[in-house]
Amino acid sequence: MKEKRILIVGAGALGSSFLDSISGEFSKVGIFDGDIITKDNLKTQPFYEGCNFEIPLSKAEFAANKMGEKDKTSEYVFYNRYFMERDEDILKEYDYVIDFTDNLKSRLVINKAAVNKGIPAVFASINEKEVFLYFYNDGNACFNCIYRNSNGKVKEGCDSIISPLSDKTISFIKDNILSFIKDKIYGGSVRILNISKGKEMSVNINKDPQCEECSKHSFKIDDSALIQVCAAGIKFSSNTHIDLKRASEKIKGSKVAGDYLFSKNDGKSILISSEGDFLFTGYELKEARELLSFLKQ
Ligand SMILES: [Zn+2]
Repeated sequence: MKEKRILIVGAGALGSSFLDSISGEFSKVGIFDGDIITKDNLKTQPFYEGCNFEIPLSKAEFAANKMGEKDKTSEYVFYNRYFMERDEDILKEYDYVIDFTDNLKSRLVINKAAVNKGIPAVFASINEKEVFLYFYNDGNACFNCIYRNSNGKVKEGCDSIISPLSDKTISFIKDNILSFIKDKIYGGSVRILNISKGKEMSVNINKDPQCEECSKHSFKIDDSALIQVCAAGIKFSSNTHIDLKRASEKIKGSKVAGDYLFSKNDGKSILISSEGDFLFTGYELKEARELLSFLKQ
């Protein structure tokens, strides 16, 4: 697991406790948070003790420096801002994104980015009674699937934290997230800890075929998609992750090798990369467009 890179979004009570517990576990840890540290934070976030408050200091920067001092085997990178849609590409530099914002708007933005980039994600949430961990990976229910079907049951909980998290809560969060990264917990599942009883529960969530974010996302082609006609053929950049296995089921006689799908017949060939680049050789523009819309379905 040491070679894995994770992006932590939100370094409040949940995020800072998790961060403090993963020293030496990853090769690179990114920390996103737009907040500055206040004296009030110390009541629930002991991680920030040692901040001198002489100058305003961002949580993300303090956290990255503190962890970097403590753990010389991992690289800590900070982003002292809130995660927005424009930050989607940053996910390409990580293998997992862990959302501790516990804020619905941010959560949906992070979910969308994770789905678009095909990056597994964990969404952590807490209220006075329970801790929730939602696990997402490609092909399974995303957070938006859960939200769409929650009938208002998905709530934001951060404000309800009035004391530092207990050791039991921190180890529940850490152990489950590490299990997910070791492929021992599947995407589409939710783990719940009842704080007062100390009981753990697991629930599986089905993918919602109507979900705006994850259904058919493999062939979602956005406005920045680009078609170029060049000497090598017709190039098309969809700017989206492609599920090559699914694409190969649609293209007769195609083969998937590593990050590419390849198909050749009657002097025509198709090359598709998992990063979303297509090359059609021997095709007319009209044919290529038809093929693309067929793949999109
Ligand atoms: Zn979904």
